[in-house]
This record gives sequence, C-alpha cells and structure tokens, in this order.
Amino acid sequence: MYSSEIIKKEMQFENNMIIDLSQSINSNIKLYPGSPNVYFLKWSKYSIDGYDSEAIFLSTHTGTHIDAPSHFIEGAAPIDNIDVNRFVMKNVHLLKIFKSSNQLITIEDIINSDIDIKENDSIVFSTGWEHNYNSDNYINANPGLSPEAAIYLSNKKINAVAIDSPSIDSAMESEFPVHKILLKNDIIIIENICNLAQIDKKKFKLIAIPLKLLGASGSPVRALAII
Ligand SMILES: [Zn+2]
Repeated sequence: MYSSEIIKKEMQFENNMIIDLSQSINSNIKLYPGSPNVYFLKWSKYSIDGYDSEAIFLSTHTGTHIDAPSHFIEGAAPIDNIDVNRFVMKNVHLLKIFKSSNQLITIEDIINSDIDIKENDSIVFSTGWEHNYNSDNYINANPGLSPEAAIYLSNKKINAVAIDSPSIDSAMESEFPVHKILLKNDIIIIENICNLAQIDKKKFKLIAIPLKLLGASGSPVRALAII
C-alpha cells in the first residue's frame, strides 16, 4: 500500500510537479521561544483497541504555519474566518534573496528582483535561512522583512507573504512590527516554509491549507508548491 511508486504518482497533478514545502511536526521540532513542546500521546493501540491513533498537543504556530490577522490584531479575522480561496494561491512570486543572521529584506531587494506584483498576488521569500535549521541560531538570529518593505507590500494589497525562517520579523525585533503591519492590512503570513531550493521557477502556485480551528490565531499547514 505504501510503496514509493504510489507516493511518486501522488506527487503529480495534471502534469504538474508537486513539492512539499512543509516541516515535519515532531517532538524535536524547532520552536519559537516561549512556545510549548510538541507532544504526541499514544491514544489507542492495535494490540488493545484494534486500531492506532494519537492525541497531539502543540501551539497553533508550530512548524510551517499560517498567522491569521487575529494573531496580533484584536478583533481581526481568526483562521477559520479567512476566505478559503486565499489558501489556493495562483500567482506566487518566489524571491530568492540571500540573507544571513538578523538581516532584513529591504524594499530595494524587492524592487531589484524585478517582479511585477499585482493585487492579490503572494510573495515567498527564500533567504536560504532554512538551511540553518539544524543550527542553534535558526530561532534566535533569523532574518526577516524590514517594516518599510512590509508597508511597501501592504500598499500593493497582496494576499500572503511566506518566508523560510521562523518569523517574518527578524530576531532583532522584539515588538513584531512586520507582523502588525501585514496582519493589520489583512495579509496572511506563512512561516517556517522550506524546500524552496527545489523550485527553479520565479512563479508557481501554492496551496497552504490550515485546519478550520474556531477562533484560532493560526494553524499548522501542509504547504505544497505546484510547478
Ligand atoms: Zn505564527
């Protein structure tokens, strides 16, 4: 049943290649400071119950996840209140802008990428930071978007911003200005996206589906690139 042949077939959809851009959720996953540890609790067993299942305990902001506007903006839309069309992103620009510890993606970086950003497009920033996942500084020295660049993108009325780091705000920021600017402008944020080196196109389609968690400020997602 679980042969590699079946998996390979599933990785294609109408002649498109599917690439998984999601981190594996497990008890060793890198966590944002202050986030609870992930627990998988064995809930039933074949030997006792005749079937296998587990209960999970985790933050709604674990691994590859979406931040809903309500994450920072009181009264704004929670994750279950976002139009589902926004999770199926047809016009996604991949911006490969290399950044190291604590560096900011600037307006100039975006302009120099020479992309035509239209209303409702989505932007994925590949900073290369995902390759530091196994290093201690993945969480505490991540690059991020500059507040000026967040305003620039907000004025373009885009749909979503994704980044291959644990936060859209660089680790230098303690007040989360970029989160606040984007979420106030109803732009959803996807963090901890990965495997971007496998995408060799400047534009692709992205599906990132959160769970329908009533009133929640975010949700882990399975993010898939369709090339
Ligand atoms: Zn988050």
